[in-house]
Amino acid sequence: MQVRIHRGAAEVGGNCIEVAAGGMRLVLDAGWPLTAVDGEDVALPGVAGLADGHDPSLLGVVISHPHPDHYGLLPKVGAAVPVYIGESASRILSEAAFFSPLGISRQPSGYLRHRQAFDLGPFRVTPFLNDHSAFDAYSMLIEAEGRRLFYTGDIRAHGRKAGLFEELLRRPPENIDVLLMEGTHIREDSDGSERGPSERDVEDACADTCKETRGMVLAMFSPQNIDRLVTLYRACLRSGRDLVIDLYTAAITAATARDTIPGVGWDRVRVYLPRSQKARVIREQAFDRTEAVKPHRIYPEELATRRSELGMLFRASMSRELEEIGCLEEARCIWSMWPGYLREPSGERLRAWLDQLGIPMVIHHASGHAFIPDLQRLVRALAPGRVVPIHSFGGDRFEEFFPRVERRRDGEWWEI
Ligand SMILES: [Zn+2]
Repeated sequence: MQVRIHRGAAEVGGNCIEVAAGGMRLVLDAGWPLTAVDGEDVALPGVAGLADGHDPSLLGVVISHPHPDHYGLLPKVGAAVPVYIGESASRILSEAAFFSPLGISRQPSGYLRHRQAFDLGPFRVTPFLNDHSAFDAYSMLIEAEGRRLFYTGDIRAHGRKAGLFEELLRRPPENIDVLLMEGTHIREDSDGSERGPSERDVEDACADTCKETRGMVLAMFSPQNIDRLVTLYRACLRSGRDLVIDLYTAAITAATARDTIPGVGWDRVRVYLPRSQKARVIREQAFDRTEAVKPHRIYPEELATRRSELGMLFRASMSRELEEIGCLEEARCIWSMWPGYLREPSGERLRAWLDQLGIPMVIHHASGHAFIPDLQRLVRALAPGRVVPIHSFGGDRFEEFFPRVERRRDGEWWEI
């Protein structure tokens, strides 16, 4: 089996890997590079047949999880190229397409299921559902010609599905020749032992903030971060607040099709329709969307009168209308995303607006990626012949933390 990393060998995001065996090929992820600047157009990696789908040796693209740095180039992938992804992940992306240009509507050729192997030509693909900040995320084992590649995708051990990480360590796939392992937390300044907060820590911190705040709690995170939504819901329950979500979040939670995920119809979950979403529903004549949430809607008057009993999933585009509604007195904002976004122009604007209204901001966040000690546990459990870095700016530091590291460059073919 031969492997070529097209992108991701020396950066976080933009993952795209091509594997070849018996004259056939498979692509793992088709990610948008996080290093691309706003408005930049990014070409598809040079995989024969990926753009037009006319090369019969290309068997398809397997998407590990619904984050743009792993699926973002799919719109450029030829319609004839088969795509494989988790079923909930696929539904989430097509629901998101109604609300956001980042969504995507494309009928997959097959779905990934936990530890259920399927064959594509000479390749046997076994997905492993994992713990990550994207819902329905997978690592995968690729077998061909008697060789075995395990690709972590993006993975962590401190989220709400940490049990899956531990299961992987307890029941690892055997005889792995190459572990293609993400290393988001391996950076120039990593000392190897540090760990950040877990999802449970974030829940505790959010619950404390909810208890300490006299007005509304505005929480900021991607509605597609379902773990975080559960975290905020639990923090709201612990502090006697209702969770207010918008129509987009309501659609995403429904798309998970899991009755363990809080959504419309759950106790203490209410739906607010921001002006921008209301306008979209009218423009698209999508009144079934508002009809479905009708009994659970919350309207401006109640936002104002019950502000001390509400935790709201907030986005910057809602700032003006909430100000006009008059529900922000004594409010507090929880930033629950990567703090680096706050240094970007949109983050600066948000902070200026909060300052102007005297709304304090606290940061409660847990990373979507494994800390180095957990990656070390993973390497010990899988005992691979070689460890190849991906999804990392610190590939040159892997050998300080892991045995049998072999670095590969973007674009080169290598043998397993
Ligand atoms: Zn990623």
